Amino acid sequence: MLNGKIAIVTGGTRGIGLAVVRTFLHNGAKVALFGSREASVQRALAQLREEQPDWPVMGLWPDLTDYAAVERAVQEAAQAFGGVDILVNNAGITKDGLLMRMSEEDFSDVIDVNLKGTFHCIRFASRQMMKQRSGKIINLASVVGISGNAGQVNYAASKAGIIGMTKSAAKELASRGITVNAVAPGFIETEMTEVLSDKLKEEMRGQIPLARMGHPEDVAKAVAFLVSEHASYITGQVLQVDGGMVM
Ligand code: NAD
Repeated sequence: MLNGKIAIVTGGTRGIGLAVVRTFLHNGAKVALFGSREASVQRALAQLREEQPDWPVMGLWPDLTDYAAVERAVQEAAQAFGGVDILVNNAGITKDGLLMRMSEEDFSDVIDVNLKGTFHCIRFASRQMMKQRSGKIINLASVVGISGNAGQVNYAASKAGIIGMTKSAAKELASRGITVNAVAPGFIETEMTEVLSDKLKEEMRGQIPLARMGHPEDVAKAVAFLVSEHASYITGQVLQVDGGMVM
């Protein structure tokens, strides 16, 4: 399905990002995964090579909040594989807390990684894609960017921002053959949600019509669809992968 396509996946070292990397590799793509630290990148690469020693995968660890560092990393990936066809902006963090207690730092950190980091990657990957006159960009939003969530003003703002960025970039880049879509997961079983209490998890499950948490692969399959030829007439959309949690 993605034979020979070159993809960059940020936050590709675990959780949803790693599931996306694996799905892309299974479908014939070449993947540059970006992580936050060298050790976690090397661990993910070792894990993937154990599954399939000859998978075309490389890893980089630019600081996504650093404009110039992202420019260098995107260039390095493009040079190594010969272009960039797909960008998945998946890296994301949470620093939850009630509005009245949230520090300026906790607000800024989440906006910087989630929103500014996404902007930086789109900024430089789309330059490659414009030269090629084709490309697919997927941004990981969240249903809380649509519905809001108590205790997550920073995170929900970053994800709502990603939705606005997705639609604006879709309008700007459409004439160059580049589609830009967002995937908004609901409640997915990863290290990000592992930290929540059992009571909260049970409450959340009760709000999901399909009555289970999502798996990283549920999200990866939606991403794989949106970067495939099957989705060539879809741009500027937000696809919720949430078991019906937010309608
Ligand atoms: P996770 O915490 O398991 O993984 C996050 C990934 O992002 C890791 O690979 C981490 O290394 C990377 N990352 C974090 N900060 C980074 C930085 N500064 N630079 C580079 N990489 C960095 O999270 P996940 O659950 O797999 O979530 C992936 C994406 O999906 C995130 O954007 C998250 O907001 C979104 N999402 C997750 C859920 C969920 O329920 N798990 C729900 C909605 C949206």
